[in-house]
Amino acid sequence: MASFPKDLHFILFPLMQQGHMILMIDIARILAQYATVTIITTPVNTKRFKSVTDRAVESKLNIQVIELQLPLAEVGLPDGCENFDMLPSANLFVKMYAAMDMLEKPAENVLRGLNPSPSCIISDNQFPWTNDVAKRLNIPRLVFHGPGCFTYLCLHIMMNTNVLNQIESDSDYFVVPGISDRIELTKAQAGSWGKSETKEMVDFFTRMKVAEEAANGIVINSFEELEVNYVGELAKAKDKKVWCIGPVSLHNRSIQDMAERGNKAGIDENDCLKWLDMKEQQSVMFVCLGSMSSFSHEQIIELGVGLELSNVPFIWCIRSSTEETKRWLIGYEERVIDRGLIVHGWAPQVLILSHEAVGGFMTHCGWNSTLEGVSAGLPMVTCPQFADQFLNEKFIIDVLQIGVSVGCKVVPNAFGEEDKFEVSAKKESVKMAVERIMDKEEEGEGRRMRAKKLGELAKSAMEKGGPSHLNTMSMIQDIIEQLNENAKPIHDDV
Ligand code: UDP
Repeated sequence: MASFPKDLHFILFPLMQQGHMILMIDIARILAQYATVTIITTPVNTKRFKSVTDRAVESKLNIQVIELQLPLAEVGLPDGCENFDMLPSANLFVKMYAAMDMLEKPAENVLRGLNPSPSCIISDNQFPWTNDVAKRLNIPRLVFHGPGCFTYLCLHIMMNTNVLNQIESDSDYFVVPGISDRIELTKAQAGSWGKSETKEMVDFFTRMKVAEEAANGIVINSFEELEVNYVGELAKAKDKKVWCIGPVSLHNRSIQDMAERGNKAGIDENDCLKWLDMKEQQSVMFVCLGSMSSFSHEQIIELGVGLELSNVPFIWCIRSSTEETKRWLIGYEERVIDRGLIVHGWAPQVLILSHEAVGGFMTHCGWNSTLEGVSAGLPMVTCPQFADQFLNEKFIIDVLQIGVSVGCKVVPNAFGEEDKFEVSAKKESVKMAVERIMDKEEEGEGRRMRAKKLGELAKSAMEKGGPSHLNTMSMIQDIIEQLNENAKPIHDDV
């Protein structure tokens, strides 16, 4: 084990959104092998991770969680609404950002009282004020964004060139300029990330950009061999060090750690494993569409019937359902009882993906899920909805060549209003995509072999001496050097 100064202390600011929280907790446990780690979050979010952080502390990792109170009433949000997935509508995001902004002073006060004093902040980029706090404390700050290098680079190109302005209609296709793969997508697919319709959001995105430019480096949940052409390109475009330290989900090795990532699962993990144990190797499709996506009643029916028509055994996690959907599901569950397992709410995703009976993963292409699918060595059916998900879909299909699309259209991130949007993925295309992924002929076999190879590379990246482990070590070393640099007295040249 590498030895670093004993008083090294990382401060982590995860965004209060499951995809970001889960991954920061993994990063916390990785860093706590070498340093003290403090996670700053709010009481409701602490509770979601308590069993994981308690277990980490029991195993002698130096992790603590410090809670700050979000001033919800002051911004007009309901009491206890401390995570993006608790907001009744996407229109309220702006209020959540306003509440998050008000954490700057309390956070700084907490940080000033810590012992050992903070050495480095790793902040989600949606807390731009952490840049000012780091400056005042004279410590380095690394920024964490969310997507992998490929998608991050594409977003950078689209936000910093006028390529999108030259395209007339949202449905027009264009080729992303300046990258090594030919990536074609529509303006709507490319532009649904960072679209700022209100002045508050335009200001917020500008502050995020400024804070990112000031960061000492970028932390990415990815591994170098996955994005060979893109790690260096991203570092060049951002003019910053890029540390790929993942896939961090592979740090979870015990059944308990794999099963308890995120919310409490809607199924007992042992029942789930028993169900999988009875299935043939690589025969099951796991369907899970993220922690934020929500679908209309009609869209859920199309998905369900598509799965039913495919004749493939499946586990399908349905995040939220209306009374109408619940009624429909009663008959549906009876029809598919021999080969379909429905999980209501939250699935132990990483645990399910790691089971040898699983042969394919239908995903909404959130970056964490994408990487978890890659880590499990699985080919994927892609079903993106909004934000970076369409770019991640392109990465899975066109760059890695391990996926088949169900052909989703862009759906605005407007939960609470799903029924206003037309069905994006039709049952016939769901059926066809599932069959193609599970297919044992040449095309399916090719995808499966490529996915398997990537899974092996992912695992070795996280092993001792593997590229992601070495990147973690040199990231820590770099922080130490920057701290030493900051500590040097400044001499005025006379
Ligand atoms: N996840 C899970 N069970 C679920 C839904 C999601 O464990 O039922 C986890 C998943 O493993 C991943 C994260 O939640 O780590 C979702 O992050 P991602 O970036 O894929 O998508 P998001 O939900 O942020 O859109």
